[in-house]
Amino acid sequence: MAASYSFDDLKLDVAAGRIDTVIAAQVDMQGRLMGKRFQAEYFIEGAWKETHSCNYLLATDIEMETVPGYKASSWEQGYGDYTMKPDLSTLRRLPWLEGTALVICDVLDHHTHEEVPHSPRAILKKQVKRLEAMGMTAFMATELEFFLFDQPYDSAREGGYRNLKLASAYNEDYHIFQTTKEEEVMRAIRTGLQGAGIPVENSKGEASAGQEEINVRYADALTMADRHVIIKNACKEIAWSKGKAITFLAKWNYGAAGSSSHIHQSLWNSDGTTPLFFDKDGEYGMSDTMKHYVAGLLAHASEITYFLAPYINSYKRFMAGTFAPTKAVWSKDNRTAGYRLCGEETKAIRVECRVGGSDLNPYLAMAALIAAGIDGIERKMELEPAFVGDAYHGTDVREIPKTLRDATELMSSSELLRTAFGHDVIDHYVRAARWEQEEYDRRVTDWEVARGFERA
Ligand code: ADP
Repeated sequence: MAASYSFDDLKLDVAAGRIDTVIAAQVDMQGRLMGKRFQAEYFIEGAWKETHSCNYLLATDIEMETVPGYKASSWEQGYGDYTMKPDLSTLRRLPWLEGTALVICDVLDHHTHEEVPHSPRAILKKQVKRLEAMGMTAFMATELEFFLFDQPYDSAREGGYRNLKLASAYNEDYHIFQTTKEEEVMRAIRTGLQGAGIPVENSKGEASAGQEEINVRYADALTMADRHVIIKNACKEIAWSKGKAITFLAKWNYGAAGSSSHIHQSLWNSDGTTPLFFDKDGEYGMSDTMKHYVAGLLAHASEITYFLAPYINSYKRFMAGTFAPTKAVWSKDNRTAGYRLCGEETKAIRVECRVGGSDLNPYLAMAALIAAGIDGIERKMELEPAFVGDAYHGTDVREIPKTLRDATELMSSSELLRTAFGHDVIDHYVRAARWEQEEYDRRVTDWEVARGFERA
């Protein structure tokens, strides 16, 4: 499902003066677009073949700190170059940026031209290849929730992120009138993405003041991950251009809902025509393949949590009674469970992982889910009975790790992940996770000061 915009289309647009800028971007560990803006003529002449970036881009934290302790890049090794190799199948116009096109790049070793193993795109491609070898394709959709603010990023920052002005004064779940007031931004997002070759299904108000969700059509895993990072960037750029701000923090405020990125998953045959999760005679229409896959997701739910919740803040979202799950169980159309069966009894049957926050890196999250699912299929794992009722208050059921610290150690000791991703890759992300924890541990929070300043 490549974008329907070719290199030849770009050449025509450049010749006609419709495009003058091409953004070439790789995806960093945080799932962000990082790269350069090329003068379009120069891109067409030769930069389309490859360009370069500093290899610290896959070894920084969210604030671009040069984090010590990585084997792959460091001051000692001089922070050399990576090769950025544009994947021309991702080329597209960005209608919300004047005269601008975008291409996503693979990250290659500067000397060997092999893909850098800890690059998020390479990690997902590796798991997709494993599925291909099994004659399968994963179709995925990552829903994205976020909060919209009626003020620009600058003023939010200058105000210390306090007294922020939400786009709505009330819970706007499915609320047409309130979301009408947000159409200046949301309509521009929908039409902009559609024009960028990302088929939009809908946007809707979500279950908190100022919260919105955007849904786009499912696609093969790599295409969907590419879409996800472009959508996030688009939402911020479009909001910014209209003097508004959008945040994808998983939990921006203690009193508000968290923002999720639910991941819908189904397996199909190689050419995507036969749904391998569907068996009309199976329980709820689930095939044995689907049962094994979901059993794999559950068996490895704890180990893969880091890739669904990579920051300290991510864990603040997991609160009972908030629609964010706390238990790794599966259930039929039940939003209290971490894994929800959707589209039962139909060809659209799929499992929705509800664990991930809107801060996840989609390449890593999908790769971890696929690795867990493949293990379930290979070992023919038996699926436990569906959970019925309110999973928040279920006893004796698998908990989702409550802290980054726990999730990090579970990732580190995961044989599944080490085998599927490789030791060096897991060690790299364990370092990222521990750094996030270390950075947090040495900070004094507003909460501590307000609580104890006078009363301690
Ligand atoms: P809900 O609102 O109940 O979460 P939706 O019907 O809005 O579910 O669908 C959510 C997402 O699931 C959409 O992005 C849609 O494209 C995607 N989806 C539909 N069918 C499949 C499938 N077979 N595999 C993966 N994703 C799918």
